[in-house]
Amino acid sequence: MTRDARYDILFQPVKIGPVTARNRFYQVPHCNGMGYQSPQAHAAMRGMKAEGGWAVVSTEECEIHWTGDVAPYIEGRLWDDHDIPHNAMMCEAVHRHGSLAAVELTHNGPSASNLLSRETLMGPRHEMSRYYPWQARRMDASDIRDYRRWHRDACIRAKKAGFDIVYVYAGHDLSLPMHFLQKRRNDRSDEYGGSLENRVRLFREVIEDAKDAVGDTCGVAVRFAVDELMGPDGITAGSEGHDVVAMLAELPDLADWKNDSVTSRFAEEGYQEQHIGFVKKLTSKPVVGVGRYTSPDHMVKLIKSGVMDMIGAARPSIADPFLPKKIEEGRIEDIRECIGCNICVSGDNTVTPIRCTQNPTMAEEWRKGWHPEVIAAKDSEDRVLIVGAGPSGLEAARALGQRGYDVHLAEAGTELGGRVSREAGLPGLSAWGRVRDYRLFQIGKMANVTIYRDSKLSAAEIRDFGFEHVVLATGATWRKDGVGRSHPFGIDGLAGPQVFSPDDIMSGRLPAKGPVVVYDDEHFYMGGLIAERIRQQGLDTILVTPDNVASSWTGYTLEVDHINKRLRQLGIRVVTAQEAVRYEKGVFNTACVYGGEGKAIEAAAVVPVTSRLPNEDLWLELSADQASWQQAGIKSVTRIGDCLAPGLIAQAVYSGHRYARDLDKPLSDAAPFRRAQPLVTT
Ligand code: ADP
Ligand code: SF4
Repeated sequence: MTRDARYDILFQPVKIGPVTARNRFYQVPHCNGMGYQSPQAHAAMRGMKAEGGWAVVSTEECEIHWTGDVAPYIEGRLWDDHDIPHNAMMCEAVHRHGSLAAVELTHNGPSASNLLSRETLMGPRHEMSRYYPWQARRMDASDIRDYRRWHRDACIRAKKAGFDIVYVYAGHDLSLPMHFLQKRRNDRSDEYGGSLENRVRLFREVIEDAKDAVGDTCGVAVRFAVDELMGPDGITAGSEGHDVVAMLAELPDLADWKNDSVTSRFAEEGYQEQHIGFVKKLTSKPVVGVGRYTSPDHMVKLIKSGVMDMIGAARPSIADPFLPKKIEEGRIEDIRECIGCNICVSGDNTVTPIRCTQNPTMAEEWRKGWHPEVIAAKDSEDRVLIVGAGPSGLEAARALGQRGYDVHLAEAGTELGGRVSREAGLPGLSAWGRVRDYRLFQIGKMANVTIYRDSKLSAAEIRDFGFEHVVLATGATWRKDGVGRSHPFGIDGLAGPQVFSPDDIMSGRLPAKGPVVVYDDEHFYMGGLIAERIRQQGLDTILVTPDNVASSWTGYTLEVDHINKRLRQLGIRVVTAQEAVRYEKGVFNTACVYGGEGKAIEAAAVVPVTSRLPNEDLWLELSADQASWQQAGIKSVTRIGDCLAPGLIAQAVYSGHRYARDLDKPLSDAAPFRRAQPLVTT
C-alpha cells in the first residue's frame, strides 16, 4: 500500500540546527522505569521507535550531575564518562534506523531527592522540598557557575555518546532553569532574580552554553512548560510563558512546548493547543507540541495551520511505536491508538519498567525479544478455542491469528470486548473502547480466526469440540459481599436488592432512589467512576473509603487530584478514613480507621467496590476431570486474564499476548526475561 498524498506533508524533513529529521514525527521525552538501570532494555525500546518511523527519539529526563539525583526514580544519567557507553547504546539503536537521538538533560535542583547522593538539595532560594520533609539551600554565585559548568560538560558527554539533539529543559517544575523562572520560588535580589529578564537569565545562559559547547554538530532544543496550569502563581501562557518564549525565541534550534500527561478521562486529544498556539508566531525555529495525537488528519491540520512543525508524542508512540510507518505505508486503520489511561506513567511512578494497556510488547523488546509488529509463525497445526472475548481473549485471538493458528473465539454475549466495552460506557472512558476496536479490526482481516457471538459454552461443549488447546478468558465478576482489602470476611448486612455491584451499574441497573453509598476499598478508578455514574442520575451519592483520599492508587496515573476535584464539583460527598462495619435498616455504619468517631450514613442503596471473583466455573469443571481431556483430544486448558486473577486491563491484554507467544514453547523454571546485572569480577 502507498500512503495517501494528503499525508505527504508529515514526511517532509525538518532541519533542527545542524541536523535534519527525516520526517515530522518526534518522540518527545518520556519516562520508562528502565533508564540507567537497564540500558539494554532502554536502548531496544528507543530503537523500536526509530524502526517504527519516529524521526527523532528522545530519552527521558537525564540527570547531568549527582547533586541532582531523583532516586528512587530510574531516569537517564550522564554524571560522568562512565555513563557514556550506556547512552551510546541507545544512540546506536536509534541511528541504525536513520533517526536522530535526543537527550533531555536536567538538574532537578530543589525538586530532586538526593536520596542516593545524600547531597544537600539546592535551588534559587531556601525552601522546603515539594516532595520530601527537608529543605533545599539557596544557590550562590559559585553554585550557579558550577551548575552551568555541569550542564555544559553533560552536553559534551552527550555529544560523545552520539546524541544529535541536546535539550535544555525547563518544564514540569522539575529543573533549575524553570525554578529560577518561577516567581514563587525565586526571591533573589541578584542578577538572577526580580524582573523576568533576570529570572530568565539562567535559562538563556544554559542555552548559550549548550550552543557554544556542542551547537556545531548537535541541535539545541528547549523544552518549556508555557503554562503550568496553576493560575497566576505559576507560569501562564497568557503572560510570562508568552514573554519567555518571545525573549528566547531565536536562541535554540528547536522548541518543545508542553505540559503534563493528562488522561483521556480529563482531556481530549490536542488538549494543549490552546496553550501552545502562540509559540510559532514568535519564532522561526521548528516547534514541537504534544497532545496525545493519533489521528493523521489532525496532525496535517496542525502543521498546515501553523500550530507546530513536528508532531510530538510520548504516549501515542508507546501504544504504537510504528504509528509513523503505518501512516507512511497507507495503513492508518492499523494504528493501535493510545487510550489515554496512563498505565504507562504508573511504571515510572512505581519504579518499574513501563507497561502499556494497548501495547503488551512495551519494555519487552530486549527482555523477551518481543517486537510490536512481528511474531513467530505457528509451531504446530493445533487448533485453539478461546472462551470469552474480553481484552485477554481478543488479544490472544489476534496474536495467535497473526502466528497463523486456526483460532475459534466464542463469546457468550452479543457484544464483544468484555469489561472494556462495559467500562468504556462509564463517564469519560469512551476512548478505552479502542482496546477492543483495534483487535477486532485486526481479527477481521484474518481468515484463520472465527468469532462466535451468543455462544455461552459449557464444559461438555468444550470437550465435544475437541480443539487441541482451550483458553479460558471468561473474566471476573464484582463481589457484592464486601470481601476485599479491609474486609477479609465481608461486610455485615450486604445482601438484598439494595446492594448493587459495579457490574450492575455498568449494565445500567442503577438504584431507583438515593442516597447511595459507594464503598471503595479497591482504591483505583472504579469507585470514583461508579459514584460519578450514579450522581449523573441525580441521586445523592456518598463515596466512603477507608483510605485517606478517594481513588488513591490513581496517584500513579496522575489522576488523583483531578478525580477528587471532580467528585466535589459533582456534589458527591467524600468520606475518608472510615471503614464499613455493617449495613442495616437503611444505614451504612462505619468506624474511623484511626480510632476516632464512626459514622451512621443514611443509604437507600450501597455499591461495594471491593474485589472481584474470577469466572472460573468452566475451569473448575474441566480441571476436575483431566482424564477426559485426552479422550477429547485436548492437550491443554489454560486460564488467562481476569479469569486467572482479576487485575488491570493492561494485565489482561498482556496475559493474552503472552499465551499466544508461548504456545508450543517448552516450559521452564528459569525467569522468562533477561535482566541487566552489574558486572562482578572475582
Ligand atoms: P478479561 O479482562 O480477562 O479479558 P472480561 O471480563 O473482559 O475478561 O471478558 C470475559 C468475557 O468472557 C465476557 O465477554 C463474557 O461474556 C465471556 N464469557 C464468560 N463466560 C463465558 C462462557 N462460558 N462462554 C463464552 N463466553 C463467556
Ligand atoms: Fe496510552 Fe494507556 Fe498505553 Fe499509556 S498505557 S500509552 S496512556 S494506552
